[in-house]
Amino acid sequence: MTKTKCSTCSVGDCKSRGQDEGDTACLDHIKNKLVILSGKGGVGKSTVAVNMAVALANAGKKVGLLDVDIHGPSVPRILGLKGKKSKLKAPWLIPVKWGENMKVMSIGFLLPDDNEAVIWRGPVKGSLIKQLIEETAWGNLDYLVVDCPPGTGDEPLSVLQILGPDAKAVIVTTPQAVAIDDVRRSITFCKKVGNPIVGVVENMSGFVCPKCKDVTQIFGAGGGKRLAEEMGIPFLGAIPLDPSITLSGDAGKTLFDLEADHPSRSAMEEIIEKL
Ligand code: ADP
Repeated sequence: MTKTKCSTCSVGDCKSRGQDEGDTACLDHIKNKLVILSGKGGVGKSTVAVNMAVALANAGKKVGLLDVDIHGPSVPRILGLKGKKSKLKAPWLIPVKWGENMKVMSIGFLLPDDNEAVIWRGPVKGSLIKQLIEETAWGNLDYLVVDCPPGTGDEPLSVLQILGPDAKAVIVTTPQAVAIDDVRRSITFCKKVGNPIVGVVENMSGFVCPKCKDVTQIFGAGGGKRLAEEMGIPFLGAIPLDPSITLSGDAGKTLFDLEADHPSRSAMEEIIEKL
């Protein structure tokens, strides 16, 4: 039965606003919400979020990808969408399409100039996050993948509170102890806020020399797996430190543009299978 009023719809009566045409911004029309979190920046959270969303879209799922990293929106570049702008179709923000199955929204699509620095204070950021989540015309989605700001402060808290307790967290870390300590905090953060954790992804795990194929553990090894065991949450897998990931991200390409048996692509595919 079609609901005429959605509990999470910021405007209220979403049926009259075209929910059946998939033109609604109501979170009730999203089946699964995945929030990609990390204890600190630079560990590959956006890379994991983008590639997870692309893998789901390639598998025929209807996917939304939301970049809430207000100070460092990197999703437009990783997806080759830099310079695109979101249109306003009052009262909704229209996301940018990527391929057949994916809709993307980022603060990067709203700023007049890519070089502009966002220097808003807390309450303004909170309302911007709310707008990006609740007023983007996602339509009916199988998955909304959210690239969350790092840490355990106001911004990730706003994201989880707005999405609600059915949003599930995927936590990205690098293997070394300083990153793992932060991730431990991210796990307790999710537990306190009441959101389930799907598991931990260990990124930049071992560097395979392209010449001799020797593996060097630049950031140590196995920290993510040990942490997952210690905290009683699933370990989803490890992605190597791989120059082709950096290069493809800079060039607006994803891991699925690499050859089918590329180790980094296979690592991401294994993670998706576990999801
Ligand atoms: P975060 O979202 O955590 O700040 P990003 O996903 O933006 O991190 O990644 C930071 C940088 O590291 C980017 O240039 C990205 O291409 C690169 N990167 C991410 N994961 C890997 C990896 N496994 N191997 C090599 N480079 C990576």
